[in-house]
Amino acid sequence: MDAPERYEQLIAFLGSQLPAPVEQEIDADGAMRFVGGEPPEVIVVLTQSSVVVSEFRGVWETPLKFTDRPRRIGLIKWRRLPETALWNALGALLKGAQQARLARFQVCQYCGQNTAPEWLHDDRVCQSCADRHSGAVH
Ligand SMILES: [Zn+2]
Repeated sequence: MDAPERYEQLIAFLGSQLPAPVEQEIDADGAMRFVGGEPPEVIVVLTQSSVVVSEFRGVWETPLKFTDRPRRIGLIKWRRLPETALWNALGALLKGAQQARLARFQVCQYCGQNTAPEWLHDDRVCQSCADRHSGAVH
C-alpha cells in the first residue's frame, strides 16, 4: 500500500468513525482538520506524516468569544504502522477522546438536556435555564 492511497483511506476512516456530523477543513499549512460531533467532541488533524487526535475543549475568553483549546490525546506517525495496527490505534484514540469529552457533559436538572461544559452555567444547570431562571427572579 503506498502512502497517497493510505492517506485517502485515513480521510475515509475519519469521516466514518468520528462522531457525526463531521466537518472538514484545510489549514493554512495544508493539514486537514476534522471536527466531529455537535457540539464538537473530537478534533483530528491529519498531515502527510502524522494524525493527531484531541478531545474538544474550549474557554470563553469574553462572554461572547469562545476559543477552542483542544486537549491532545495522541499522535500517530501513520506511515510507520502496518495497516491493522493503524486502524486499531486510531480507532482507540477516537473512542478515548470522545469518552473523555462526553464524561464532562452534565444533564441539566431543569430541562434535562445533556449539556457540554462550556454551556453549563453551574453544576447541573445549563446556561439557557440559568438565564430564564434569573429573568424570573428579577
Ligand atoms: Zn437547562
